[in-house]
Amino acid sequence: MKVIDHINEAKDTLFSFEILPPLKGKSIQSIYNGIDPLMEFKPKFINVTYHREEYVYKERDKGLLEKVSIRKRPGTVGICAAIMNKYHVDAVPHLICGGFSKEDTENALIDLQFLGIDNVLALRGDPIKTEVTFKAANKGHKYAVELIEQIQSMNRGQYTMDEIQLEPTDFCVGAAGYPEKHFEAMNMATDLQYLKQKVDMGADYIVTQLFYDNSKYFEFVKKCREIGITVPIIPGLKPISNLRHISFLPKFFNIDLPLELSTELLKCKTNEDVKQVGIEWGIQQSKELKAAGVPCIHYYTMTNSTEVRKIASELF
Ligand code: FAD
Repeated sequence: MKVIDHINEAKDTLFSFEILPPLKGKSIQSIYNGIDPLMEFKPKFINVTYHREEYVYKERDKGLLEKVSIRKRPGTVGICAAIMNKYHVDAVPHLICGGFSKEDTENALIDLQFLGIDNVLALRGDPIKTEVTFKAANKGHKYAVELIEQIQSMNRGQYTMDEIQLEPTDFCVGAAGYPEKHFEAMNMATDLQYLKQKVDMGADYIVTQLFYDNSKYFEFVKKCREIGITVPIIPGLKPISNLRHISFLPKFFNIDLPLELSTELLKCKTNEDVKQVGIEWGIQQSKELKAAGVPCIHYYTMTNSTEVRKIASELF
């Protein structure tokens, strides 16, 4: 079933979450171990991220970098099929522009259709570590809006290679939105205009980047509505769970930690202390969002569902 239909049919705020494929060579059991504890909250859909392979570099003599291994998290499509088969819950694979030609994308979408997957989250993808700025693949897309255009063309029966009408697909398409602005965007106004382009091109709903200050989300929704974006905007939350997150999350995701939260985090001495603060903050944030009637709360579990379980048990 499509995410947009779940939202339209819902009488209350829905629960959904996102997982990361395991590193290459690890078993799918780690995925089940992360999903099992969250099934009692009846997720309506589970997202599975997609990652381009990246070389891992190590610093050697005189600051020279040496390529030491390749980090890969394959299996997004296989994991989605396994989730639907095992849990009978809709799975939403992330589809990115980076590394994909239009033909690769088309073939990936054909695989998804054959597997009975009705949903995709259409993204550009981040630059990989060896790129200063994002580089599109040869004959690939530069922006998510172009990927959405391709998916919607297939939904109308138009494929890239054949200019003849073929059997149409029927994908529900999600897009990413940034309450605190995408890190590359010149300003919030242009970022919002590009977001509107994605919706006008056929994105059925938006999922936001993680944030810790609900007022930023409410302001973002208000600005979206003012410029004519009417689709559901699903807030994305990730509980802070270790000391490293305190500096990593603001830098990596271009977000602020509100003063009240940072004050509590500065008192933390161990990862356990941070986890406790993160859970309490997550519960408070989720309760306020639910009370405001958001369509769904989407939790980023990454590879660990423990904190999300504690938050969800207070709400769903
Ligand atoms: P776009 O919408 O293409 O925007 C990218 C930048 O270009 C923005 O600054 C925007 O303002 C600007 N822009 C957009 N359109 C135009 C245009 N036509 N002309 C000029 N400028 C334009 N990454 C992964 O690699 N794998 C994942 O699984 C993944 N999952 C994610 C899930 C969510 C919910 C979110 C919020 C992000 C996720 N990301 C993932 C990260 C995402 O790929 C990056 O944030 C990426 O840098 C931008 O992706 P986008 O789809 O928002 O890009």
